[in-house]
Amino acid sequence: MKRFLELLFLLAISTAVLAQCNPEDEVESWYQWAKEWENYAIDQFPIGEEDEMKIGDSLHVKMQTENVLLKKHPKKAYINKIVQKLAKGVNRKGIRYRIHIIDDDKNLNAFSIAGGHLYITSKMISWAKSEDELAFIIGHEIAHVDNRHGIRKIQKLIIGETFGGDYGLLAANAELLLSAPFGQIDEYDADRSGAVLATKAGYNPRKGLRFFEELSKNESYDYYEKLIRTHPYSQERHNCLHDFMTNELGK
Ligand SMILES: [Zn+2]
Repeated sequence: MKRFLELLFLLAISTAVLAQCNPEDEVESWYQWAKEWENYAIDQFPIGEEDEMKIGDSLHVKMQTENVLLKKHPKKAYINKIVQKLAKGVNRKGIRYRIHIIDDDKNLNAFSIAGGHLYITSKMISWAKSEDELAFIIGHEIAHVDNRHGIRKIQKLIIGETFGGDYGLLAANAELLLSAPFGQIDEYDADRSGAVLATKAGYNPRKGLRFFEELSKNESYDYYEKLIRTHPYSQERHNCLHDFMTNELGK
C-alpha cells in the first residue's frame, strides 16, 4: 500500500497539467495537485464509452422526474444545431450528445451528466444575445463530458463500493478530502476546453465572458468561502478565460 501511494504521489507530480487559473494561488495549487492524484487513482478502473452512455441514460430518467423538459421550444432545432457543430471537435468520438431544454424562466443554468446528456434552462436561452454566447455555454457542458468529469465521479463511487480493502480506504478518504472544492479545477478545465470547442466550430468564445460578468454581479470574494465552493468565483473564471483566450488561443 505504501509503495502504491508513493507511486501515485510521483505520478501526480510528474503528470500535473495546470488547469488552475493562477499557478501562484496556493488554494488552487493544492486542489490541482490533489485532483491529479485522484484522477490517476480513478483511471485505474475505466468505464467504456458504451457503458458510460448506458449510465447516462439511466441518470437521465432521474433528471426527467426532477425537471420539466420541454419537448417543443421555438429554438430547439437551433440549439441542436449548435450542439452538433460543437460535438465535431470532441476527443471522445464514441459519445453521442443530446440536449434537453428545462422549463425554467427564472434561473440561468446549464449542466451535463456523464454519457452526453446536456441540459439548458429556457431562461439561459432567452438571456443569450448571440449564438456565440450559447456556443460557449454549451461547449463548457460538452467539455465536462469529453474531459470525463462526470464519469470519474461515478467511477469514484464504484471504486468505493467494490473495494473493501486498502483501496476502499483510499477511495473513502478521497471522498472525504476531495469533495466539493475540487470541482473548481473541473470548472476551469471545462471553461478552457469549452472555449477551444467553440473556436473549432467557428464561434467567438470571447462572447462567453458576458456570462461571468452577469454571475459576478451577485458575488463578493471571501478567501475562506473559496475553500468550500464547488465553482470558482465568476470574476476569477472571467479573468482566467480572458487570459487563456489571449495567450493560448490568440483570440
Ligand atoms: Zn461547469
